[in-house]
Amino acid sequence: MLRWLLLRAAGSRRLAELSASSPAARRVVDRYIAGDTLAAGLRVARELAASGMSLTLDHVGEYVTSTEQAEQAAQVYRDLLRQVTAEALPAGISVKPTQLGLLLDPERCDKLVDDLAQEAAEAGAHVTLDMEDHTVTEATVALVERVHADGVTNVGCAIQAALHRTPEDVRRLTRLGASVRLCKGAYAEPEHLAWQRRVDVDRAYLEAARYLVREADHPRFATHDHRLVAAIKREAAAVGRPRDSYEFQMLYGVRPEMQRALVGDGYRLCVYVPFGTEWFPYFTRRLAERPANLAFFLRALTSGEQR
Ligand SMILES: Cc1cc2nc3c(=O)[nH]c(=O)nc-3n(C[C@H](O)[C@H](O)[C@H](O)COP(=O)(O)OP(=O)(O)OC[C@H]3O[C@@H](n4cnc5c(N)ncnc54)[C@H](O)[C@@H]3O)c2cc1C
Repeated sequence: MLRWLLLRAAGSRRLAELSASSPAARRVVDRYIAGDTLAAGLRVARELAASGMSLTLDHVGEYVTSTEQAEQAAQVYRDLLRQVTAEALPAGISVKPTQLGLLLDPERCDKLVDDLAQEAAEAGAHVTLDMEDHTVTEATVALVERVHADGVTNVGCAIQAALHRTPEDVRRLTRLGASVRLCKGAYAEPEHLAWQRRVDVDRAYLEAARYLVREADHPRFATHDHRLVAAIKREAAAVGRPRDSYEFQMLYGVRPEMQRALVGDGYRLCVYVPFGTEWFPYFTRRLAERPANLAFFLRALTSGEQR
């Protein structure tokens, strides 16, 4: 219930403004967000790259309400990719289709993804479409299929273990040769579409991961769950899969010690680095993942410290 309420609060502008105006709350936000600007995102990216991690950078934003906003978002990604090329950073991008106007002008959204993917290809980078709530799952998978049909193959998407449709989506994308980022799923989804109990989501994750370990070219396992990480390592070792043929992905600010340990043990670790001013919905999902975070954040918000 708490998780559901929090995820509903993600769209609250008032709450977003309140969070931004409290320095104490902002310190909690800063644990998860690299900063408001592209320069801040790149600064964090350089630091992480220096410690052997690769990156996927997210210019936070979603559900834009005008095509101008979609064009502006695409421009930030273009600037980012140019910088990635110039500095030879081991970085790709993570993009939300609704940030590129999927729900406003799907054809233009396809074109923007296509252009970004070509720009990314020049940087040797991968484009991952983040998976948003279930209302756009089919449209997102279909978008990956369309750009692949155009010969643009460095585009994949996230798939959420929580959804009942996931085994089929994982097969569909793997047959296409599109890279899958497997995650548990950060959205509150209805019972007829998604597993509700953690234990069921974890089981579904493991089943999909087993398939990907065996069948996919370069699967990306996005989780901080140490039991799943251990199980994936075991599965990969059992089928003789080299450590550099798959990767773990984790969010900036979440379990950094585990991130460092994976790199130290010779595994590939890609850190998801969000930056930008529209961080509130992203941040709310991080709070919903861990109730302890919420208590901490509420204490900061009500500490009375205001700008
Ligand atoms: C790289 C990456 C990309 C993602 N992309 C998407 C996407 O496109 N679509 C989507 O729906 N979801 C996405 N997610 C979020 C994902 O679906 C989960 O909501 C999130 O990762 C928490 O699940 P978990 O696998 O880490 O397991 P959990 O069981 O939730 O967490 C395992 C442990 O990790 C730590 N942990 C997890 N989350 C937090 C947190 N917020 N703060 C502090 N500690 C935490 C805790 O110690 C927890 O016990 C992504 C996650 C990652 C890592």
